Amino acid sequence: MSTDIASIALPGGERIAKLGQGTWEMGERASRRADEIAALREGVALGMTLIDTAEMYGDGATEELVGEALRGLRDEVFLVSKVYPHNASRRGVERACEASLARLGTDRIDLYLLHWRGGVPFEETVEGFEALVRAGKIRHWGVSNFDVDDMEELVALPGGAACAANQILYNVARRGPEFDLLPWSLARGMPVMAYSPVDHARLPKRSPLDDIAAGHGVSVWQVALAWVLRARGVCAIPKAARIEHVRENRAALDLKLGETDLAALDAYFKPPRGKRALEML
Ligand code: NAP
Repeated sequence: MSTDIASIALPGGERIAKLGQGTWEMGERASRRADEIAALREGVALGMTLIDTAEMYGDGATEELVGEALRGLRDEVFLVSKVYPHNASRRGVERACEASLARLGTDRIDLYLLHWRGGVPFEETVEGFEALVRAGKIRHWGVSNFDVDDMEELVALPGGAACAANQILYNVARRGPEFDLLPWSLARGMPVMAYSPVDHARLPKRSPLDDIAAGHGVSVWQVALAWVLRARGVCAIPKAARIEHVRENRAALDLKLGETDLAALDAYFKPPRGKRALEML
C-alpha cells in the first residue's frame, strides 16, 4: 500500500494528509497502551500523518501517549491539539499550550484549535493564538465545532481571517454541514477536519452501507470513511486503537464509491434540505 497519501491545502498553501488519526479515549487504560502506540505509529508509517489530540483527552494522559508514540517521528507528522474554552483567554492559551507542549514532548504544535466556543471573547483567544505563533510555539491556529454564524463572526475580527481550519462532526449519518458550512468553508479555502467520521462506531446496525460494503468486499466502516473522504476540502481523523483498523482505514482512502452507491446512501442518509444546527459529540 502506498504511503504517498492524498492531501489538502491549508489557506496558506501548506498541505496536510487528507486522512489522519484521532486519539480521543487513548492513553486512558494501561492495558491498551502498547496497542494504541503501535496503532498510531503504523498509521504514520502508512502516511496518516495528521494526528489530532486535545488537552481535554484523558486529562492530559492522551497527549502524553501521543508524545510517546511519536518519539522519533515528530518531524513526519502534522500535530493538532486543542485548548479548552475555559483556558482560551490571552494568558490562558499560553499556559495551556506550554502544558500541552510538555506532555507532547515537543517544541511546537502545528495546529492549535479552540475546542468549542466558550465564554471568552474571540478577540482575546485570537490575540493569544497570534502571540503563540510569533513565539514559534504553534504554527497555525483554528477552531472546532464552529457553525457558519460563529465563523462569520470570527473571520470579521482583526486577525480572525488567519483561522486555518474548522474541526467539526461530519459523517454519513450527520450531514447537516453540507447545507451551508461545507460550501462556506470551500469558498474560503478553509479545510474542514471531519471528526467522528465513522460516527464514534455508532453507525446503524442495518443500512445500505451493508450491501455497498459487501459489493466492494470491504467493511461498513471503510465505506463510511470513504464517503467522508470523497468530499472536497475535507480531511478526516478516524480514531483506531487496533492496528487492523488503522490498515483498513488507510485502505478506505483508495476505495472509490460509485454513483449507485452514493445514490443508495443519499436515499437512506438524507442530505439536508435546510439549515440544521451543527451537532457536536
Ligand atoms: P470515530 O473515529 O468515528 O470512531 C472511533 C471508533 O470506531 C473506535 O471505537 C474505533 O475502534 C472504531 N473504528 C475505527 N476504525 C474502524 C474500522 N476500520 N473498523 C471498525 N471499527 C473502527 O470517532 P471519534 O474517536 O469520536 O472521532 C475521531 C477523532 O476526532 C477523535 O479521536 C478525536 O481526535 C476527534 N474528535 C474531536 C471532537 C471535537 O469536539 N473537536 C469530538 C470528537 C472527536 P478501535 O479504537 O477499537 O480501533
